Amino acid sequence: MTNHDLTLIAAQPDISVPSEALNLKHLIDGLWTASKSGKTFERRSPATGQLVSVAAMGGTEEVEAAVAAARAAFDGRRWSDLSGRDRAKILNRVADLIDANLDRIALTETMESGKPISQAEAEIEGAANIWRYAATLAWNVRGDSQNALGPDMLGLVLKEPVGVVSIITPWNFPFLIVSQKLPFALAAGCTAVVKPSELTSSTTVILGELLVEAGIPAGVVNIVLGFGDPVGATMTVHRDIDMVSFTGSTAVGKTIVAATSSGIKKVSLELGGKNPQVVFPDADLDQAADAIVFGIYFNAGECCNSGSRIIVHEDIAAELSERVVALSRKVPFGDPLNRKTKVGAIISTQHQAKIDRYVKEARSAGADILLGGEGLKIDGLNGQFYQPTVVTDVTADMTIANEEVFGPVLSIIKFKTFDEAITLANGSAYGLSAGVWSKDISTCLDFTRKVRAGTVWTNTWMDGYPELPFGGVKESGLGRELGPNGLEEFLETKTVQMRIGDTRQMWV
Ligand code: NDP
Repeated sequence: MTNHDLTLIAAQPDISVPSEALNLKHLIDGLWTASKSGKTFERRSPATGQLVSVAAMGGTEEVEAAVAAARAAFDGRRWSDLSGRDRAKILNRVADLIDANLDRIALTETMESGKPISQAEAEIEGAANIWRYAATLAWNVRGDSQNALGPDMLGLVLKEPVGVVSIITPWNFPFLIVSQKLPFALAAGCTAVVKPSELTSSTTVILGELLVEAGIPAGVVNIVLGFGDPVGATMTVHRDIDMVSFTGSTAVGKTIVAATSSGIKKVSLELGGKNPQVVFPDADLDQAADAIVFGIYFNAGECCNSGSRIIVHEDIAAELSERVVALSRKVPFGDPLNRKTKVGAIISTQHQAKIDRYVKEARSAGADILLGGEGLKIDGLNGQFYQPTVVTDVTADMTIANEEVFGPVLSIIKFKTFDEAITLANGSAYGLSAGVWSKDISTCLDFTRKVRAGTVWTNTWMDGYPELPFGGVKESGLGRELGPNGLEEFLETKTVQMRIGDTRQMWV
């Protein structure tokens, strides 16, 4: 294993970690409960191997109990009968409690996911603001009216909560992603059953504690811990679930679409991405190179928005690649608990092996590994890390150009003309996000119109705001989170036709 003159941060934690592991239980109907089976599962830090949590392992019995509690809370109108203003009060209280518990949540997130502590802190702060934004939407559950149906008719369009929602989340941004769904579902008046990834359950449990402290009525939010099968799978097919809101891989997303089809449930999916950033010759190469490095190494590339496909004009490809490699060497990889670190550990040994397989396969397909391409040894830590990796001479037909690596591995592809760049950008099955780098506003606008993606960044990468919708097209998903659309996802439309006066014509 060579270290390629990388910037490595050896074990030197700025924060001390608790010696005791967390003991996690399900939240069902307002009570913290162990599993009927008595079974548990463990999570160890991917950076150090230290035991972080021992969680109750849920099964179908726990899902049944949680769904029954959520159904009773919804049908009893325990939550949806509160005014928007009263629901907002609780959501704002949760936001304040997240702020007050930021250090504890961030440390737990870092311990379980391996991400750098400074990034975890920023995510938790961002999540609190999403809860605050969703609270403003709770005041605004509004429909429409139609006042031109004639003198004797009035049309009303009411917005109502969808009902009981299953929320299933992945391991890469556990607290942030549940915060992109749950507060919007609650703002709409829905009740929920939540299942975090079994790799990162703890911060969702902490959120459950804060919800209880904030005064959420029993049964409105339930949390079941455990594996995709049976917990997630049961949550998608259960007859008392009205909607499934899922973030995770496209493969599991497809399973969910198939599983929910027999019950015709509403489905909202945030799935994978193979996101292109297209760099034109007139781009600001300093900015572009920095954003490319950020886009691929942020969260160790374990990010749906990872800018993993660089499509660069052939005239500047060599220069851009050199700049990216030089900057990659400067990015601090290593101890997640050190504040200087920008890239931490890989979530699991299985995932590390998968990343490595993609790189080896690209090499045998004829690509050139300009930097990295191997696991990384961090002094004093025995978890798994992966080198910053830059792969050039990638062609559109290679696996690495099409599949989500979900690691710190960048692919660089060359283009000659604008049309070819668009064809390459749109050549993926995914359509989550895309970026364009050019000083020419017309190039940026033309690209923005022609690229098929849910989000387009022009001369920037991966900014995000609670106010703006987020989601994908093609195999990157269905529906939108955040922004006003985030609320709309959890609302159903009811049409009301009201006759004014005794004007109805008799039929018989
Ligand atoms: P998975 O799809 O493997 O898992 C996501 C969640 O689904 C987990 O809680 C998992 O449970 C659960 N699950 C697994 N099988 C089933 C099933 N049959 N029915 C219901 N639920 C199930 O994704 P990862 O956790 O590996 O996360 C990585 C993926 O998430 C990447 O593809 C990434 O692109 C995508 N992602 C998309 C985002 C977006 O907004 N578009 C954001 C973040 C990630 P468990 O793992 O506990 O068994």
